[in-house]
Amino acid sequence: MTARTDTSGGRHRVVILGAGFGGIGAAKQLKKSDVVVVLVDGHDYHTFQPLLYQVATGLLEQPAVGHPIRDLFDDQDNVRVHQDRVTGIDLDKREVTFGELDPVLYNTLVLALGAEVNFFGVDGAAEHAFPLYTLADAVRLKDHVLERWEAADRHPQLVADGALNMVVVGGGPTGVETAGAMAELYSGVFRKDYPDVDPEQARIVLVEASPEIFGMFKPDIRSYTEEALSKRGVEVMTGEVVESVSPEKVTLKSGAVLSAHTLVWGAGLQGNALIRSLGLELERGNRIAVDGELRIPSHPEVFAVGDIAAITDAKTEQVLPQLGSVALQSGEHAGETIARTVEGKETEPFKYRDKGTMATIGRGAAVVQMLGGKTMKGKKAQLAWGTVHLALLPTNEDRAKAVVDWAGAGLTHQRSGRIRVET
Ligand SMILES: Cc1cc2nc3c(=O)[nH]c(=O)nc-3n(C[C@H](O)[C@H](O)[C@H](O)COP(=O)(O)OP(=O)(O)OC[C@H]3O[C@@H](n4cnc5c(N)ncnc54)[C@H](O)[C@@H]3O)c2cc1C
Repeated sequence: MTARTDTSGGRHRVVILGAGFGGIGAAKQLKKSDVVVVLVDGHDYHTFQPLLYQVATGLLEQPAVGHPIRDLFDDQDNVRVHQDRVTGIDLDKREVTFGELDPVLYNTLVLALGAEVNFFGVDGAAEHAFPLYTLADAVRLKDHVLERWEAADRHPQLVADGALNMVVVGGGPTGVETAGAMAELYSGVFRKDYPDVDPEQARIVLVEASPEIFGMFKPDIRSYTEEALSKRGVEVMTGEVVESVSPEKVTLKSGAVLSAHTLVWGAGLQGNALIRSLGLELERGNRIAVDGELRIPSHPEVFAVGDIAAITDAKTEQVLPQLGSVALQSGEHAGETIARTVEGKETEPFKYRDKGTMATIGRGAAVVQMLGGKTMKGKKAQLAWGTVHLALLPTNEDRAKAVVDWAGAGLTHQRSGRIRVET
């Protein structure tokens, strides 16, 4: 293949791989810069991952969580958006290769490809578990749950076989939020939708390998969360490791066997597979080590931002968590640094403005913990969660839509997204 025709007109070309929070943040910061930005993502939409569980539980519809990438740049002339898979990066030749596009040469590269699900080699997990990392994952999980409830409605004997039981693996924010939201879907909506099913027969079990759920939070948040989950009927099993998964049951290392036709995998992430081929120094979880300006030390023309990067917080000297606000701020900082470099201005190291680590367990039940250790629980925390996550949504239209959907669900308990469209 020949290198892609130079459409930069001699201008500095910034190639941004991935249009998540990190990639979008970087591209937007380059709006006024005299550069050409080439933004490539495997999807034609930006995914708002923090709300995927709301799609999976029918609270939000797909367009509230997936926004067209081209739409986000319709007022930015220096951006070219392409939908394609990135297949290779040659750091020495400064060239990126794709599934179908011709290769593209860069002056500056921003790696913002995010992470991917890690099944830790658990037998049957890749085939039978339901991860919750992409919009397609969320729709697939929702469809599967709706299909199992309809099947149990037609064939009540399926209930005893575990058709309505769900095992959620991982006691971190993804697992806790999904278990809590599913429990509210079961008790608030399905209880009425399927009056002949005894709610006691539909179990939701949260399985966590370590001795406690929410290991990253302080003890008061952990006990609050366990209580909030238990109030919603979620059974929490800690110190238990999943050994194998089949379509109808989950086997734990302790020997326990749980009958469940649904296993949601919220147990772990690892850096995007592509970066393992680059010969770079990788930190825990296969994340790329970056310097204070988010550059790769051996290739200072390459930035890594968001989930793919191991970014050390200048204040705490700890690696920052894989969060939307870290991805957005690091992407914006990389964009700003590139703009300043091109203009010959001085650049500054990245400073993370902590928005807190937070999670929602259900209506009126949320938790927040700031980097300094301050915590919030309940309605106040839910308000903080709502504010931070609305700010992360890419447009005002998305924010307005999310508010309307949340308010609607809060008032009526209804989930307009709980339909399954056969394709
Ligand atoms: C279920 C869930 C819940 C979460 N909840 C919260 C929360 O409540 N609060 C919070 O702050 N954070 C939350 N997070 C974390 C947050 O969503 C991530 O930290 C953030 O999305 C990372 O942004 P990113 O830009 O690094 O990567 P991503 O958002 O993952 O974007 C990466 C992009 O790269 C593209 N891509 C990947 N590989 C290729 C390839 N080979 N070719 C082309 N394109 C490719 C993908 O399509 C994607 O669009 C949650 C994450 C998940 C999965």
